[in-house]
Amino acid sequence: MLNNERGAAVRPSFSRWLSQTNDITQQFMAMGVDPSFISMAGGLPAAEFYPVAAAAEAADRALSRWGAAALEYGPVDGFMPLRAHIADRMSRMAGRHFDTSNVLLTVGAMQGLDLIGKVLIDEGDRIVTQYPTYVGALDAWRPRQPVYTPLDWGKPGTSVETLRSAKFVYGVPNYSNPTGALVPTPARAALLEKALEADTWLVEDDPYLPLQYDGDAGPSMLALDGAMMPGGPYNGPVIYLGTLSKSIVPGLRVGWVIASPDMIAALTLAKQSTDISSSMLTHAVALELLEADIEKVHVPGMVGHYRERRDALCAAALETLAPWFEWQVPSGGMFVWMKARNSTIDTGVLYARALREKVAYVPGSVFDPAGVDTSSMRINFTRNAPDVLREGARRLAVAAKDAFG
Ligand code: PMP
Repeated sequence: MLNNERGAAVRPSFSRWLSQTNDITQQFMAMGVDPSFISMAGGLPAAEFYPVAAAAEAADRALSRWGAAALEYGPVDGFMPLRAHIADRMSRMAGRHFDTSNVLLTVGAMQGLDLIGKVLIDEGDRIVTQYPTYVGALDAWRPRQPVYTPLDWGKPGTSVETLRSAKFVYGVPNYSNPTGALVPTPARAALLEKALEADTWLVEDDPYLPLQYDGDAGPSMLALDGAMMPGGPYNGPVIYLGTLSKSIVPGLRVGWVIASPDMIAALTLAKQSTDISSSMLTHAVALELLEADIEKVHVPGMVGHYRERRDALCAAALETLAPWFEWQVPSGGMFVWMKARNSTIDTGVLYARALREKVAYVPGSVFDPAGVDTSSMRINFTRNAPDVLREGARRLAVAAKDAFG
């Protein structure tokens, strides 16, 4: 039981939540502080590629352009010129018109997930999601005590009946966190059609869209829905989450939700009691960066480095980790998902041994809605340079040899 300084206890349900929730994200941030430690755990971009000079100029321009308005409380749904910009960007992406009533700006995509929990989940509600799935979503929704059912994108895949019994479906079709997997277009279209038939919300979380190494990402389900329902304001079941965290920088904390005007209104009300408003200053800076087309300048070079890092990690892993693990080379995103070759290899056991070798990954159990997976691990390849990744793979192999022979 967690007590405050005066000895008063937090409420029992919060304490239960704490005991189930991972502080693993905080642990991983702390590891970054020890230079001899190689953390391949956090889902972090590489800070050396952040466009610092462009951000400084954008901040100057934003303050000259908007003055005190950039330092005010703002509208709950975000700085209007940035909302309009995001509406245009998403209209171009999806090939249909979204107006600002379809857009809520959030503090990263993470806040979108939290608000969705606030608006949609009652205790015992069913969520259909990929297994494994994004730990941030699991943690955001845990206090609301939903139950989970695995999402099968395959053919025939999750049935309409299963979707009918669910409050919503949650998926990361582009280069998922944690697996890096890309869902084929026909599977996306099939899921969308079933969600429409079942009258279920479809939460599409798309942070990794900009990080494509081989070939293209598929069309979003939001775009596919547009193709099915031409004309009129978007009023479909997709709740799409976007972010600037991977294409520009995570520290701006700028994300957005695209959904039907009714859903946007509900999420906006929920946001009001969370933070009054996002920072207008970061919205104004983000607008300057986007108007200067920073992603066109910045993303291709960064993606080139990330591709090189992915290749370095996968080549090193073939030489070092192949006796214990197998994996597929991801075509985008930030992660390689390694699966144990047999049941004697436990990634929870390996984790403690790896920390002694001063290397870290994320054990698969963290991403498992049931919390029982001991056969997988997630390795990030974007944060560290190729040489560091090679050394990280070598250290992991030392730990694996020691633990499993
Ligand atoms: N969804 C997924 C699948 C993610 O991997 C992340 C970031 N790791 C987020 C949402 C949150 O991103 P943001 O920085 O935009 O809050």
